[in-house]
Amino acid sequence: MYRESWVEIDLDALKYNFHKIQEKAKKEIICVVKANGYGSGDQAIIQTALECGIHFFAVSSLDEAIVLRNEGCKEKILILGYVNPNYIDLCRHYNFQCTAVSLEWVTEVCKSDLSGVQLHLKLDTGMNRIGMKTLEECSTALDLCLRAGGDVRGIYTHFACSDDASQVMTKKQYEEFKTIVSALPHSFEYIHCDNSDALVSFDDDLSNVGRLGISMYGVSSYLQNLKPVFSLYSTIVCTKEIEAGETVGYGATYTAKTKEWIATLPIGYADGWLRKNQNRHVSVADELVPIVGRICMDQCMIRCNKRMPVGTVVELFGKTIAVQDVAKDLDTIPYEIITNLSERLTRCYIKDGKKIAEINARLERSEKR
Ligand SMILES: *Cc1c(COP(=O)(O)O)cnc(C)c1O
Repeated sequence: MYRESWVEIDLDALKYNFHKIQEKAKKEIICVVKANGYGSGDQAIIQTALECGIHFFAVSSLDEAIVLRNEGCKEKILILGYVNPNYIDLCRHYNFQCTAVSLEWVTEVCKSDLSGVQLHLKLDTGMNRIGMKTLEECSTALDLCLRAGGDVRGIYTHFACSDDASQVMTKKQYEEFKTIVSALPHSFEYIHCDNSDALVSFDDDLSNVGRLGISMYGVSSYLQNLKPVFSLYSTIVCTKEIEAGETVGYGATYTAKTKEWIATLPIGYADGWLRKNQNRHVSVADELVPIVGRICMDQCMIRCNKRMPVGTVVELFGKTIAVQDVAKDLDTIPYEIITNLSERLTRCYIKDGKKIAEINARLERSEKR
């Protein structure tokens, strides 16, 4: 690693979270590793999942699925999003499980022979995103797929409000899902509706698998005992004492009130460390200190209480500052914070308490040329 800012991925914490969730969920888990494992780096996540007995993965698109195969993943892979019907042969070739997102989509793919193509029917029970809404659509789609020789493996839906403890919407969606699944003349190998929050909070007697995403990283609306997997670190690379009245950064938005120690961190908004973080705090030697002045593309400044030596490690979030709190401060959700950490930041992986790998994807690609 040639840079003083990095994302740490704690695979021990990940393993711990998998176990806690498996205990609670009591059903098979599909590990959702879309968006490169929410930005963590899917290979290490998949390896850890395999060690925890998880052998089913999901991504959002065909190219993400192909990446997993290219990386050597031989497990079951479900594509959750739309796949252009032109590429259905490719899905067969790679042995992917595809989502039938609409009757229109099914009609299109059924123009060709579907033998050997694995499919999951998607029901829309309230998201109004992708999926079929009525029993008629579903049974027509099922019929078409089977007649074209398709291998209809599964059926699923997605909850809109699984973080709402009242479960009003979730129950409504579930009942609709159950009604349609029960009415279809087909025995599905995989029936699934739960995302992370529903997996540990919503009991049902219908589904036999659940789709786990965010909670493996320690973020849950229900489980308090998970451990944070993502940490964002930087390092003080420059430190200086400035006089009262001097300003810091673009736009001179911060003015020192007295003599102050200002330290510079080599991380900025191009790393996903958003400008909105201005005025929030970071953790330096177990103390919270403010980010002062505007965050630049590649750097930002903090105000320390004393001279902090170059090389001092700073936590932007992770074990001390929860990513949930960062998200709250920035008026967003943890998903958006972690998936925005750019590829420029090296991912460092911790296993058995030791650093086992560092990945800087762009650097590696350039070295292979
Ligand atoms: C992303 C996604 C999930 C995982 O959601 P989490 O809230 O991260 O657990 C599950 N199902 C579908 C369809 C998804 O797109």
